[in-house]
Amino acid sequence: MYDVIIIGGGVSGAAAARELSRYQVKACVLEKEEDVCCGTSKANSAIVHAGYDAATGSLMAKLNVQGNEMMEQLSKDLDFPFQRRGSLVICLSEEDMPELQALYDRGVANGVKGLQILNREEVLEMEPNVVDQVYAALYAPTAGIVCPFHLNIALAENAYANGVDFRFNTEVLDIKKMEEGYELITNRGIYHTRYVVNAAGVYADRFHNMVSEHKIHITPRRGDYCLLDKRAGTHVSRTIFSLPTKKGKGVLVTPTVHGNLLVGPTAIDIEDKEGTNTTKEGMDQVITKAGQNVKNLPMRQVITSFAGLRAHEDGHEFIIEEVEDAKGFIDCAGIESPGLTSCPAIGVMVADLLKEKMGLVKKENFIATRKGILDPDTLSKEERKALIKENPAYGNIICRCEMVTEGEIIDAIRRPLGARSLDGVKRRTRAGMGRCQSGFCSPRTMEILARECGMSMFDITKSGGKSQIVVGTNKDVL
Ligand SMILES: Cc1cc2nc3c(=O)[nH]c(=O)nc-3n(C[C@H](O)[C@H](O)[C@H](O)COP(=O)(O)OP(=O)(O)OC[C@H]3O[C@@H](n4cnc5c(N)ncnc54)[C@H](O)[C@@H]3O)c2cc1C
Repeated sequence: MYDVIIIGGGVSGAAAARELSRYQVKACVLEKEEDVCCGTSKANSAIVHAGYDAATGSLMAKLNVQGNEMMEQLSKDLDFPFQRRGSLVICLSEEDMPELQALYDRGVANGVKGLQILNREEVLEMEPNVVDQVYAALYAPTAGIVCPFHLNIALAENAYANGVDFRFNTEVLDIKKMEEGYELITNRGIYHTRYVVNAAGVYADRFHNMVSEHKIHITPRRGDYCLLDKRAGTHVSRTIFSLPTKKGKGVLVTPTVHGNLLVGPTAIDIEDKEGTNTTKEGMDQVITKAGQNVKNLPMRQVITSFAGLRAHEDGHEFIIEEVEDAKGFIDCAGIESPGLTSCPAIGVMVADLLKEKMGLVKKENFIATRKGILDPDTLSKEERKALIKENPAYGNIICRCEMVTEGEIIDAIRRPLGARSLDGVKRRTRAGMGRCQSGFCSPRTMEILARECGMSMFDITKSGGKSQIVVGTNKDVL
């Protein structure tokens, strides 16, 4: 019997697990995929929004501003990349100025600090690649960019270090209300728990509706992206947004914390909760719309495309509360954008709710910090030499595009909640993230995975499940 089971190991579930692990509580995260950060948390714009978008007084607005304020300290405590670069919302004509002004006013009302409306000259001085016909822009200096993988993994690793169990490849299939707590039926057996946190992303409506008469409905809203090579990474220095549309924040152009340029997303409502395929129309929209605000985009530098699904609840609001007719069942649903930004505050809100309900007592030995994978690039030449002398694996480059060493890959595999697939290694080390998109390094990474995990090459997958890469040997056909 667990005290709390969290369904979902995205940023919401991982942040809730980490905050909960400050208390004396027996908690577990159930995740249907083979790793954390396999849902929406791995495919988004990675912007730490300033907080002027969401309606004043909404939970979204409150948690956005709080999460933004918490992100810097969290990035230091948990050792993940975060840069407060600032953002600009581009206004192309005098006619649209009331909309820009409304964003400014809403931002001020939401408590966003440092907002300014800049004129054309000021914008172009800041960002020379913004289109010449720019009329004005809303500048938000508190906006930032983050590595969503490292944020999610860091939260989970720290929760694990503080005693939270993680069960991967464990899909919750059904939930039953019991006399005390809930029974969760999974593909790997039955779990009992006093409290449930429903942080299942686009599937959160399914679990809510299993226990409540008051139904909710989540639409997967797809966002397609193009990722450009690092050669294009300095095309803009800040995140460049369009004026928002009814369906969201529009197409943006942004640098990433790893030095690439990201262009997207679309906002296309679909039915399929697993429908993360990109489409030609989606790509066309991204390219056309991004060019409306930023000129000379080097689209020939695209190295990959991907899509993520926003968990759009019909009420367009975060639902973080105990379900009225299902005591002990806490929803963390409708966590669409700005969910990544808000996750530190979401974690605190969920933990506070449970602390109150369960009378939780703080632990004395909570470990507040965590160290990420050592990146030899951050060392001086002398330090790097010494490291290689001590551990020659740091002198063996596996991914040539991103210059990732064997030492980093071994660390990614051996650490708690370590990588078990090519994508797991990729999210932790960037091996395979570069220009060749793992064309060269995947066989070598697979060999390391097989050796470290005692697995056969036939069992190594791209991303768990049935995504095996080796399906036979050449000799089989002879
Ligand atoms: C296109 C796009 C752009 C975005 N841009 C930004 C941005 O720039 N800034 C920002 O702040 N936010 C952004 N967001 C929003 C942000 O990415 C999400 O709010 C956040 O990642 C949601 O995290 P989550 O943990 O709630 O959901 P998820 O990351 O989806 O996690 C849910 C987890 O539950 C698991 N799960 C589901 N069903 C089951 C089951 N039956 N059993 C066990 N496990 C299960 C899934 O596998 C998944 O790992 C964007 C989203 C999209 C799609």
